[in-house]
Amino acid sequence: SKRLVIKVGTSSLVLPNSEINLRAIDQLAFTLSSLRQLGYEVILVSSGAIGVGMNLLGLEKRPETIAKQQAVAAIGQSELIKIYTQRFTSYHQQSAQVLLTRDVIDFPTSRQNVINTFEELLTMGVIPIVNENDSVSVDELDHLTKFGDNDQLSAIVCKLAQADLLLMLSDIDGFYSDNPHTNPDAILYSHITKITEMMEDAAGGKGSVFGTGGMTSKLKAAKRVLDNQSQMILASGKDPAILFDILEGKEVGTLFS
Ligand code: ADP
Repeated sequence: SKRLVIKVGTSSLVLPNSEINLRAIDQLAFTLSSLRQLGYEVILVSSGAIGVGMNLLGLEKRPETIAKQQAVAAIGQSELIKIYTQRFTSYHQQSAQVLLTRDVIDFPTSRQNVINTFEELLTMGVIPIVNENDSVSVDELDHLTKFGDNDQLSAIVCKLAQADLLLMLSDIDGFYSDNPHTNPDAILYSHITKITEMMEDAAGGKGSVFGTGGMTSKLKAAKRVLDNQSQMILASGKDPAILFDILEGKEVGTLFS
């Protein structure tokens, strides 16, 4: 059976007015539960803890201090998992929460424990919902405990679980020759086998307001995946049903292989 890692960004889970996108979460849970029934093994890497926490607390912008951000992430993460669990349960699908930090992955014993946990959950037919443990590591400069962002986390999870494919769902439908929001002449790359310096330049700077990664971090994740002889598809997360299209072999988004 095919093992998949699906990564969704905050922009797919939180609406522009900062409300939780319940419809998107429900559609995601429906799609992933269906994929399980089709025989796929599924791991979900979900951002959104701080966004959901901000929404619960009625905050308009990210708190200034790291301690406050960590508190907001802790509040948001449990609410996010509550919603996921509710939705997955309604589709008769068991899910589980796995929170990781960089140091856990770098230390051989705990790294093996994480691998074993994924293996066991997938064998049981459960969908692990993975996120960075933001309450332990939220500082962007904290290289010991921090993965960098969930794009990197999803590529690392892909390697740990030896997944066949990383499906990265973004607010954009693929990787272009230039930022399509600023350059209407940008063309979509449908298949990339090697990431060149030219592509890294085309990825430019930061992405959306909520997401921290931007296209640069997506390329970095793709590089990790390619180095590990696995595959990644970058596609739009607007409608999770796109996952059915991709797995049926339709050409959507950008394939890195
Ligand atoms: P996510 O929704 O996964 O958090 P991001 O907002 O971090 O995604 O990154 C996607 C954004 O990156 C796009 O919406 C676009 O504005 C920007 N971008 C910059 N360069 C490119 C490029 N060459 N191709 C596609 N998108 C690009």
